[in-house]
Amino acid sequence: MSRFSRLVPDGDHRERVSCLDCGHVFYENPKPVVGAVVSHEGRVLLCRRAIEPRRGYWTLPAGYMELGETAEEGARREVQEEAGAEIVTDGILALFSISRIGQIQIIYRARFAGAGQPVYSAGEESLEVGLFDWSDIPWTELAFPSVRWALDAWADAGGDPLRAPYGNPEADPRGDVPPPGLHSDNPTMTRQEEARPQ
Ligand SMILES: [Zn+2]
Repeated sequence: MSRFSRLVPDGDHRERVSCLDCGHVFYENPKPVVGAVVSHEGRVLLCRRAIEPRRGYWTLPAGYMELGETAEEGARREVQEEAGAEIVTDGILALFSISRIGQIQIIYRARFAGAGQPVYSAGEESLEVGLFDWSDIPWTELAFPSVRWALDAWADAGGDPLRAPYGNPEADPRGDVPPPGLHSDNPTMTRQEEARPQ
């Protein structure tokens, strides 16, 4: 059984979990999240979360990348898993930093693959899935601030060719601000929530 400790490795500048027996350092780095704003005739695809955090709230299909896939493949897989839809991606719509929870979010603009009426259905992690007109989006029931940011970016870009990705809004340049009322066991979140009462 190896012994582990948090210490600053030689030549480093912050504490890492290290193995005291062999010196292996377990680096903890931000994880990429990939997702998509999928639209059809001006309506956007949203999923109501079946899992915590933020169960019951609406989100874009998105999730952590898996090893061995590209960002675009990951976005397509997440849309398939959570919304039962096959998509074609246009390109990267937005790139958000959520430093509060160590995420970088890569959000694609996408449409449904194939002709005819869009096909979608709730996957395991979704309670329901729907296409929403802009005015029908449940704005007060969105799961995370970045869902709003991505929807705003999508609306702002319209149907134009995509240019440089949209980034964090000026109001939250580092992605520090949690969704209102979020409860989580994630120690990073808890610490930040304590530091930043709503
Ligand atoms: Zn070791």
